[in-house]
Amino acid sequence: MSARLTELDPSSSREPLLSVRDLRMTFRGGVRAVDGVDFDLAPGETLGLVGESGCGKSTTGRMVVRLLEPTGGRLLFGGRDLTRLSQRDLLPIRRDLSMIFQDPFSSLNPRQTVHQIVSGPRDLLTREQVGDLLERVGLSAQHAGRFPHQFSGGQAQRIGIARALASGPRLVVCDEPVSALDVSIQAQIVNLLADLQADLGLAYLFIAHDLSVVRHMCARVAVMYLGRIVEIGAREQIYGTPAHPYTRALLSAVPVPDPDVEATRERIVLRGDPPSPKAPPPGCSFHPRCHLAQDICRTSRPELRGVNGRQVACHLA
Ligand code: SF4
Repeated sequence: MSARLTELDPSSSREPLLSVRDLRMTFRGGVRAVDGVDFDLAPGETLGLVGESGCGKSTTGRMVVRLLEPTGGRLLFGGRDLTRLSQRDLLPIRRDLSMIFQDPFSSLNPRQTVHQIVSGPRDLLTREQVGDLLERVGLSAQHAGRFPHQFSGGQAQRIGIARALASGPRLVVCDEPVSALDVSIQAQIVNLLADLQADLGLAYLFIAHDLSVVRHMCARVAVMYLGRIVEIGAREQIYGTPAHPYTRALLSAVPVPDPDVEATRERIVLRGDPPSPKAPPPGCSFHPRCHLAQDICRTSRPELRGVNGRQVACHLA
């Protein structure tokens, strides 16, 4: 399956920075949080990872930056398999991988100064370097001696972004980076992330449940359901002609600014909650909630396959 994905993945024309192959995470008690995920990410590209909470998108991001050890699959970064490297060999590569967290306050140590937070446990940066980073994210070098509680939510997230940039990464996993912030602040942080990407050539794995933010930020989008990718493709394909019933349901819940369009468009209401990842349904795991489900959907699991330039895991697509 991985070989087929490599052939069909629209990003494969460029040498990927990151290739994720059959990535898995089974937690204690048999919870399959991530159940065989494949995607490529090119240098300087942004891939959006969307889905309801509990679908495995954050767990995937944490495995990519090695905060969690996968229980299966491979992570190829710059052609090297991270899952097979010793801790010593992994150390220099860790600098290339970084993460921005959802809640800026809970991810910043309240007892550390901004300098200590940005400079990290080994205090690798000089005062000037920390000052430069703070200015780069829209803060001031004067802020280095202050503590997190002295900042607003948006400013605290800027500190989290400065910390993520401190090691000079090539790939940053952004895990819901604006969802804890006031709506008025969200656009500023999204624009900052876009500017930093343009200046530094960063690749982003952008995890979010807000489909409007993902549309703004991401050239490609992957939709996850119950630990698997059910559709992946270019933004125009996913938003313009979504092919998987789950993608269509997610998009139909996003309000449209034009009241005439809003009044007439199709709305697909998802039935019930996602099933437990401990005991996923047989066949297509979306079938208990899918308004199009057929007999085959209850017995046979659909694999990702190319459909009109994107990949979809649905028997009827
Ligand atoms: Fe729905 Fe069947 Fe497609 Fe699954 S495979 S999304 S149940 S139509």
